[in-house]
Amino acid sequence: MTVLVLGDQLTATRGPLSRRPDDRVLMIEATEFARRHPYHPHKLTLVFSAMRHFRDDLRARGRSVDYRQVETFADGIDAHLREHPGDELVVMRPPSYRGGNRLRDLVDEHDGSLDVVQNDLFLCSSESFDEWAGDRSSYRHEDFYRFVRRETGYLMEGGDPVGGQWNYDDQNRETPPDGYEPPEPPAFEPDETTREVVEWVTETFAGEYDEPPYGGDWADPEPFRWPVTQEQARAVLDHFVTERLDDFGPYQDAMRTDSWAMHHSLLSAALNLGVIHPRRILDRVTNAAEERDVPLNSVEGFVRQVLGWREFMRHVYRREMPDLASANQLDQTEPLPELFWTGETDMACLSDVVDGVRERGYSHHIERLMILSNFATLLGVEPQALNRWFHAAYVDAYHWVTTPNVVGMGTFGSAVLSTKPYVSSANYVDTMSDYCNDCHFYKTKATGERACPFNSLYWDFLDRNADKLRNNHRMNLVYSHLDDKDEAEIETIRDRAASLRERARRGDL
Ligand code: FAD
Repeated sequence: MTVLVLGDQLTATRGPLSRRPDDRVLMIEATEFARRHPYHPHKLTLVFSAMRHFRDDLRARGRSVDYRQVETFADGIDAHLREHPGDELVVMRPPSYRGGNRLRDLVDEHDGSLDVVQNDLFLCSSESFDEWAGDRSSYRHEDFYRFVRRETGYLMEGGDPVGGQWNYDDQNRETPPDGYEPPEPPAFEPDETTREVVEWVTETFAGEYDEPPYGGDWADPEPFRWPVTQEQARAVLDHFVTERLDDFGPYQDAMRTDSWAMHHSLLSAALNLGVIHPRRILDRVTNAAEERDVPLNSVEGFVRQVLGWREFMRHVYRREMPDLASANQLDQTEPLPELFWTGETDMACLSDVVDGVRERGYSHHIERLMILSNFATLLGVEPQALNRWFHAAYVDAYHWVTTPNVVGMGTFGSAVLSTKPYVSSANYVDTMSDYCNDCHFYKTKATGERACPFNSLYWDFLDRNADKLRNNHRMNLVYSHLDDKDEAEIETIRDRAASLRERARRGDL
């Protein structure tokens, strides 16, 4: 009997690994996985270093680990079953679409058997979500969030939400005052194992991550900073709770050139690998709130991300695949501009965010949504092209989490989880960030050579998609503003948008 541990299931305290302490462990490090996209080298280092640390940790605790370094996953299964003919394996269900079935087929082909069991790295089971969702095919996060709060008891007092409200978002849209000093984000000096992986990634994948579809190098393997062990992930959590949690709420949507992390937890990379469990995170945060005076809007705002959004996205993906991945209800067909790889643009916001992604494979939520996705959506980029980019570029990216976030939330490619597109003009960017202060473009202008591209693209987007969006009652107000413009102004906006699209294609924005 063998427990198969996948690269994003690195925990010994949950799932079959915890229940079967005497069974052999199989881990497969397949190089082919890393070639599917021009992955950011930090993502590759993160996954492979975390796997090797986990292997060493298990061995140090006396477990027998069969760690196979092979070209393809099938090679690993083949080698294992040659050594242990007819072995019975067990694995937690991967969150990727048909992941469990594909694994089972693969093991069957090699005359073994595989039992695929519940994935214990999430908090809400499929049965529980399906019971809540019934036969609905469009989902509202706020409804699910209340359901899962009641189910788990987090921030509940009897049957009611702590503080009397479910949501404190109205207090969570602030920007820091003058003189604000952002907290320093934690970083980890690579140990010997990580250094070896960095070297290996650099040798093995050179020419892949440094040759993205548009050519040119886009990311350096070093310096690498992410947590790769349980201890490091717990240190990130500690740091978050002691240094950043209190202001998480108010500054959750704020963006600043001098702080790429703001008050975000930076836990997604470790969380999505199983290195830290969501229950540990939620317990630590809610306990802190009981022990000292943490503002409720920060605690609730954070709980909503981990308990609400993360679980919600996982299950919406599970239920709506495969259609979700290919959805494109606005029929957007523009290619992804080269600047997403190079960061080369005079738009200060885009250039800053893309540079950050190139440097560390991360940007925080509102930059993903309201800078990158917003811009791509307004430009008319095909949702699938943007999804591929997010999947390749971020340290925390997996198909199950990028797809609902990019195709559903970010680009409105599908209406399964949003009732309207998350799009805005420069006004939002200016309100929530300091990017516009030194930008080449004028934030208040919609037309003219140096008008901020967000403005004309925004009006052009509404105009182009009027037949699909105008009747949406949540869009009434913005369409009334569009209707205030006369035909000549609309024509100028269309021309400007067409020329911006052309410039983006040429790599000259
Ligand atoms: P915090 O702001 O501190 O939030 C805490 C945790 O809440 C995160 O670690 C994450 O686990 C969870 N969370 C919050 N929002 C979401 C969400 N919408 N979906 C899933 N989990 C959420 N998240 C990923 O984990 N991987 C991705 O590849 C990813 N791609 C995204 C792409 C787009 C276009 C958008 C709009 C969002 C994406 N997100 C993704 C969600 C979110 O942006 C990240 O989880 C978050 O920025 C990670 O940073 P953090 O750990 O500092 O998060």
